[in-house]
Amino acid sequence: MKYFVIDPTVFVEIKNGKMLLYNSYNGEKLLVNDQQIVNLFINGLNKMNIFPIENEVLETDKIRDFIIEIEKNDFGYLLSNNKTLPIQFAPLINIQTENDQEIITKDNSFNPLIDIREISIHLNGGPDNKQFSNLSKQINCIHSELITDNLNFNQLSKFLLPIINVKSLFKINLLGGNVLTYPYLEEVKVLLLSIHQSTQICVYLLPHIVINNAVNIKEILDFQNLKFIFYLNPHLYKEFAEILPKYLPSSLMEYNLIIESEDDLTFFDSIENNLIKSNLIPLFNGLNFDFFEKNVFTDFDDIKAISISQNEVYQNKNINSYNFGKLVVLHNGDIYANLNKKMLGNIESSYAPEIILNEYKIGESWFLTRLKVSPCKNCIYNFLCPPVSNYELLMNKFNLCHIS
Ligand code: SF4
Repeated sequence: MKYFVIDPTVFVEIKNGKMLLYNSYNGEKLLVNDQQIVNLFINGLNKMNIFPIENEVLETDKIRDFIIEIEKNDFGYLLSNNKTLPIQFAPLINIQTENDQEIITKDNSFNPLIDIREISIHLNGGPDNKQFSNLSKQINCIHSELITDNLNFNQLSKFLLPIINVKSLFKINLLGGNVLTYPYLEEVKVLLLSIHQSTQICVYLLPHIVINNAVNIKEILDFQNLKFIFYLNPHLYKEFAEILPKYLPSSLMEYNLIIESEDDLTFFDSIENNLIKSNLIPLFNGLNFDFFEKNVFTDFDDIKAISISQNEVYQNKNINSYNFGKLVVLHNGDIYANLNKKMLGNIESSYAPEIILNEYKIGESWFLTRLKVSPCKNCIYNFLCPPVSNYELLMNKFNLCHIS
């Protein structure tokens, strides 16, 4: 008997009569539109990526050419004269569990805290500014819908204690209208003294706040593994890039430049940007869809250039790696996995493991894959495309791409 063996590093996706083979070893892709070949895979391929193939099928030119192409590009090979069905093992994803209530409740050893990667804590509210309200649903930033109040420190401390020593927690973000005026900043420092050495603390600030609170900023400089993140319009970049190093070591600073238009992009290209590390962050302001269409949308060239590993493909099929392991605590105590989704609880009454179990059960953010949203679930590229982003959640449009 002859067998057609597809390499275990190759993913086969069949949708609407088309088939995509993706080799996660070398990033090669093969799109197949021929119905006879697609049907051969639909009817024969088993979970081990193998199927028996009859001699008469092999005699057709089309199938022979296809096998030559498969072998040439390392997608697989034809195995001749094997008496029994060959065996090969498919890899398994290494996450603790799936977002299935049954699995969680059956397993007493389940410790949800080990999935925590990043927590963002809004210590106080920000100015009532529409730009920030929009921005906080797209990226980590001041949340401005709730003004002035400070986060209750006792409740925060109770909520954080079980989390802060978890080794998987690699980042704590401190945010707010003005983190430096939070009345319990010293207590927060003491609380975070015991965090794992590798956990990074990112303090998000508006640039003018540093200048107006130069004395207070020294107070927080002794956090270990510290970074200050600033959001700036690129037009203000040069001015602040010259002033801020007088108050803070440049090595601790990072700029996120908010890009809303072609003009912002052109301006950024025209300025010297070698002073401080800076990232370009597109902002959807409700009026710049055209800018997103031109500069952010995925096109065929982007898809062709995607070369992700086997693990990344499994991640894309099972979790949303932008969201997975992240929690946000707003300054009124409300807890979210993603600010675009439902609240999971409040630090006043919720216990951290219970919050994570809620997210496992709802699966709205950590497990929001392209396989769950339309039209991506019917698209052959859904396991290759980057995870569903906050832009898509905000726009309620899940195909920011030029692929129909
Ligand atoms: S429809 Fe969705 S999965 Fe397909 S290319 Fe567009 S964004 Fe990616």
